[in-house]
Amino acid sequence: MITVLAGGSGAAKFIRGLVEIMPQEELTIIGNTGDDVTVWGLHVSPDLDTVMYLLAGLLDEDRGWGITGDTFTCLRSMERYGEMTWFQLGDRDLATHIVRTRSLQQGLTLTEVTEKLCRALGVRARLLPMSDDRVETRIHTPQGTLSFQEFFVRERWASPVTGVSYEGSDRARPAPGVIEAIQSSAGIIIAPSNPITSIGPILAIADIRQALNRSVAPVIAITPIVGGRAVSGPAGKLMRACGYEVSARGVAEVYSDFVDVLIIDEQDAALAEEIERLDMRAVVAPTLMSDLTTKIDLAKRVLQHL
Ligand code: GDP
Repeated sequence: MITVLAGGSGAAKFIRGLVEIMPQEELTIIGNTGDDVTVWGLHVSPDLDTVMYLLAGLLDEDRGWGITGDTFTCLRSMERYGEMTWFQLGDRDLATHIVRTRSLQQGLTLTEVTEKLCRALGVRARLLPMSDDRVETRIHTPQGTLSFQEFFVRERWASPVTGVSYEGSDRARPAPGVIEAIQSSAGIIIAPSNPITSIGPILAIADIRQALNRSVAPVIAITPIVGGRAVSGPAGKLMRACGYEVSARGVAEVYSDFVDVLIIDEQDAALAEEIERLDMRAVVAPTLMSDLTTKIDLAKRVLQHL
């Protein structure tokens, strides 16, 4: 069994390669729920859904979210009613959120709902939310705090950021199966996801971070920062706001207490020595996943270290 800590789009690219070289059945994925959002009264878990759609062969891989070939008829009707439409939900995608919301209202936990959705879609890997308790990533700006989706989607991550917090993380417990997965895995992989808003909320749950710290199996992370900038999205901006250097070395610092191996990009080979001073191995590899071959090659490189 291998466990992957995952955000959304970066994680999905990596997992795409991983499931080409190992059976889904041997994979547990712990997904971020810090950026869950309520849209039109529906509970949306964007990162869980991205990974779930990927594993089900449904993900629109060009966009990195939603279902391939989905339509947006409902969204356009909502627009006519003057409802909020900055968070786009496709028609087929909508069914996921309706089922999730209704099941939660009927008393199922997020873990149970996720399992139910995955089963219906033929997902064979185990996808677990990090917690059944609500943890909300808050982005602090000079104008006040925003939820992650307000910052990322509505504001197109243009607002200046003064800090990030994870509301509820001090009370949140790991979802059932999360700690057991970490403890019984042959290796734990931290996907090339945003360290602050995708992996950060998972690590903010003290018991999860402690389990990673104590893990006998190797913990291997892949950098989402290449050549001093994020491959996509606001990871660089958020790392800077949280006091980290925007580099593979900065990523190493975020994870320094529990990572054994950090996969850094060829462009950053010169940083390897400095990173190894943080008590981890730095492995230089091509980390840009532009097509299926590069995704598979990266997955193979990672598994070599288990
Ligand atoms: P989000 O929740 O959709 O933002 O998804 P993630 O946090 O999983 O992924 C976003 C992160 O993936 C960003 O920080 C990117 O820099 C990183 N990323 C995206 N594509 C690649 C890639 O091809 N290689 C590497 N190394 N990182 C990538």
